[in-house]
Amino acid sequence: MPFSDPEAKRRWQRDYNRRYYAANKVSRRLVSKATDQRRALRARKRQWVMDLVDDRCSGCGEVSMALELSCPTAPRRIADRSVVDYSWTDLKSLGPDLVATCGVCRHE
Ligand SMILES: [Zn+2]
Repeated sequence: MPFSDPEAKRRWQRDYNRRYYAANKVSRRLVSKATDQRRALRARKRQWVMDLVDDRCSGCGEVSMALELSCPTAPRRIADRSVVDYSWTDLKSLGPDLVATCGVCRHE
């Protein structure tokens, strides 16, 4: 492995990853594992936000399981993402600005 050259190392790693993925995609269920892990991560992030807002709508204060999460102050680089796809760092720094909206307030 030619690791003295960072660019060569990067290429080697990329090619290794491609070979590994091609060889193990089916047998190791890589796609469904990645999907499951992403779903679980989103669920953990949603729970973190729900704990932060105490499961309450930011508008009316009602407890709801169907709160829609948003962040009006999100920087442009992440503004088009779902809140549960923010990085932990972004979530923690934007925490006070996160808005949870219930179905009633959403339609007002
Ligand atoms: Zn509400």
